[in-house]
Amino acid sequence: MNKRDYYEVLGVDKNADDKEIKSAFRRLAKKYHPDVSKEPDAAEKFKEAQEAYAVLSDPEKRSQYDKYGHAAFDQMNGGAGFDFSDFDFSDIFSDLFGSSFGGFSGFSSFGGGRTSSTKHRGSDKLMRMDLTFEEAVFGCKKTIRLDVYDECTSCGGKGGKGEKNCPTCHGSGTVTSEQRTLFGTFMTRTTCSNCGGKGKVYESTCSTCRGTGKVKVNKEIEVKIPAGVNTDNQLRLAGKGDSGSNGGPSGDLYLEFRVKEHELYERDGNDIYLELPITITDAVLGCKKEVPTLYGNVKLTIPEGASTGDKHRLKGKGIEDLHTGSKGNMYVVINVVIPSKLDRKQKKLFEELSETDLKTSEFKKIENYLEKNK
Ligand SMILES: [Zn+2]
Ligand SMILES: [Zn+2]
Repeated sequence: MNKRDYYEVLGVDKNADDKEIKSAFRRLAKKYHPDVSKEPDAAEKFKEAQEAYAVLSDPEKRSQYDKYGHAAFDQMNGGAGFDFSDFDFSDIFSDLFGSSFGGFSGFSSFGGGRTSSTKHRGSDKLMRMDLTFEEAVFGCKKTIRLDVYDECTSCGGKGGKGEKNCPTCHGSGTVTSEQRTLFGTFMTRTTCSNCGGKGKVYESTCSTCRGTGKVKVNKEIEVKIPAGVNTDNQLRLAGKGDSGSNGGPSGDLYLEFRVKEHELYERDGNDIYLELPITITDAVLGCKKEVPTLYGNVKLTIPEGASTGDKHRLKGKGIEDLHTGSKGNMYVVINVVIPSKLDRKQKKLFEELSETDLKTSEFKKIENYLEKNK
């Protein structure tokens, strides 16, 4: 058994004080906590760090360890090292992960034997929702139906009826077995397979939930969608996910939106764009146009000499910001439509018009260039 030195595990030297030991452990716990760590051997590393911390943070145990090394605890625990299953890590974990990690509150399953009391947060759920442009812009109320796992009411989430101590492990949740090898006899402690570490078994399995303690229910939820959401925005509905186990909190439900395109408006963040086609004569002579906005129609004055691409800003006629409530702008973008077919009268008028001089200074540039390079 190649057990690593506790000081080495925490990465501190032999003279490290309590503060250094605590902060070293916090660092490792943050890195290797199995619920957050992506490292493949996180669970092992985490357990190793927990064990080292449980010993080195206790002055009496530390001095025993300094004198005898791992042997100090081996006899007590069948060669499995120091048993830290009863050690209270809660103060460290609670300020490490904060309340957002509700699932950690009862964290102790690595020590074995206390699995039955481990609180587990229910799973989060993700649901996609289609919204019309108007629903997204102005907010709306929706009724959604979804399947979530709830605590089984017939067994109270226990999974069975007639609770009694597991006869295999006598309620401890772990079994100790003896292994004879060339190097001697070792005692190993493993999770009891009969009760799955719960320490309890039931005379009859709950038929409603088939022993899982959870049942799928189809729930109807009323949701208020705030004004200003956009495609890919997520709305978190706290506690509307699957229910937790052993009194753990429920998970959350996330709604992810997909907003349908509007037939006229194009959205860019909180601004909206409207392309307004105008005739060539309106462009030349200027005009007044009625324009639809999110907040009713407005009269827009387009001065003479308008060009395609001209932008008119309608301040505050955009979308209300989801967080600040301030409104974006609306932009009316002019599109001068050149007619591709003219009737006889129109053609005549254009021909007459073309005999007049419509050239401005802009035309001179190319003409001058051509003249120069003749
Ligand atoms: Zn049940
Ligand atoms: Zn058992």
